[in-house]
Amino acid sequence: VIDQPKSNMFLDQIEMILGKENILTGGRVAERSHHIWCLGQPLQALAVVFPRSTQEVSEIMTVCKEHQQPVVVHGGMTNMVGSTETKGNELVISMEKMNKILEIDTVSMTVLVEAGVIIENLHQAVDKEGLMFPVTYGAKGSAQVGGMIATNAGGLRVFRYGMTRNWVLGLEVVLADGTIISSLKKLVKDNSGLDLKQLFIGSEGTMGIITRAVLKLRLASKSRNTAVIAVETYAQVVGLLQYMVEALEGALTGFELIWKDTYAAMIGVLQGKGVPLPVGSQFYVLMETSGTDPAMDRELLEHVLVKAFEKGLMQDGTVAGSDHEQQHFWRIREDVDHLVAMCSHDQHFDVSLPISLIDQYISEISEKLNKIPEVDRYFVYGHMADGNIHLIVSNTVGNLSIKEKINQLIYSPLPKYGGSISAEHGIGLHKKRYLSYSRSSEEIALMKLLKTTIDPSNLLNPGKIF
Ligand SMILES: Cc1cc2nc3c(=O)[nH]c(=O)nc-3n(C[C@H](O)[C@H](O)[C@H](O)COP(=O)(O)OP(=O)(O)OC[C@H]3O[C@@H](n4cnc5c(N)ncnc54)[C@H](O)[C@@H]3O)c2cc1C
Repeated sequence: VIDQPKSNMFLDQIEMILGKENILTGGRVAERSHHIWCLGQPLQALAVVFPRSTQEVSEIMTVCKEHQQPVVVHGGMTNMVGSTETKGNELVISMEKMNKILEIDTVSMTVLVEAGVIIENLHQAVDKEGLMFPVTYGAKGSAQVGGMIATNAGGLRVFRYGMTRNWVLGLEVVLADGTIISSLKKLVKDNSGLDLKQLFIGSEGTMGIITRAVLKLRLASKSRNTAVIAVETYAQVVGLLQYMVEALEGALTGFELIWKDTYAAMIGVLQGKGVPLPVGSQFYVLMETSGTDPAMDRELLEHVLVKAFEKGLMQDGTVAGSDHEQQHFWRIREDVDHLVAMCSHDQHFDVSLPISLIDQYISEISEKLNKIPEVDRYFVYGHMADGNIHLIVSNTVGNLSIKEKINQLIYSPLPKYGGSISAEHGIGLHKKRYLSYSRSSEEIALMKLLKTTIDPSNLLNPGKIF
């Protein structure tokens, strides 16, 4: 009763900034959700607001500071760690109306974008200029630039091009008190003091609200080829990777590994049409090369595959014959929704390990998972060339105790392998309890100190990461 007039006053002030049409309240909030995979679960929030400019975001945060109103930013809502989950008292700031590509500079090879631009739209726009933004992943059709930066997303080409961090030249951010920090320079080199943008990249909406960014681009590849390769042992997979790095030099842009049972499930998405290789081997590699000479590049790939076969590094392989077929092959790996649909109470893992230890780790945890009667299936695949493996574990019960048991099983061996509990998805809510498996208490204390310095009232994405 006491809160009601306060929240009404707060919403009135927000409405003055945005207008009625850019705020959802009451029953209309519940029509939205906190994640693309939870569309049936009504969103819990005080309101959802849709700013159209940095200035509006700043004014919203000024009012939030005045009312001590906690805020959760929603981008494309594709994160894997619960970082867009909300409580009923929180305000959701959706970035979907800040979706303009403002400038493509073909000389500096940069693009200036608003945070709500969808990654796939960015890819298509720069492609028309003969340029490329290399960060790409399965969620590119929904994930936004702001979300990609806030999670420092990795994806399918990190091995060759690095993570999002490598491609951010400038950022504009609104702090918890409404201050706008705008540094939208197109500079590759700028050692004039601390590189402040790094505080926000990968901070999962806890340090500031990203409103615009300058991203670096590169020349688009003139050719792209994809092969699917069947391999019998992990030692051969490692040998194959080493050989491909040497034989293809910079042309190798993707090397994804899929375990046998997961491949069998993944190809289900093709519904029997155009399956690249039959199920039979222990491992499947999805490999991509990029280059400048379409005819020669394909020939080179075919040549190195024959050589790899002669060296005993692979059992079978096939190269996509057309762009359409390449997309078809990549769909196997990218359409994670297809796997999720086969699971109940799915838990998603994204661990990092030294490449040489991946097989040992997967064998150790598989043995333990197989002994848990409630675990009905699990899938293993990942960005092997980056030492990054994803697991999806499904169980029939879905209570907290089984979830915790599975989390412990996956995370607790990682310190002895020198691994990380999160290669690229972040911490959010789901991995918060396990942060100490990856980071020392001194590191966590420093993270908390930075957070409390920048956001002393803990208004931005409270309770996430730390
Ligand atoms: C099918 C699928 C495949 C994926 N594959 C990969 C992969 O290969 N590699 C990888 O790294 N990730 C992958 N992801 C997860 C990835 O982290 C997210 O997809 C994406 O980077 C998040 O972008 P988003 O716009 O959806 O952000 P959201 O999910 O909306 O938000 C993520 C976090 O960022 C914050 N945030 C969002 N926008 C802003 C902003 N403008 N300012 C400040 N904070 C903000 C949110 O508060 C939240 O904490 C995948 C996800 C799916 C569903």
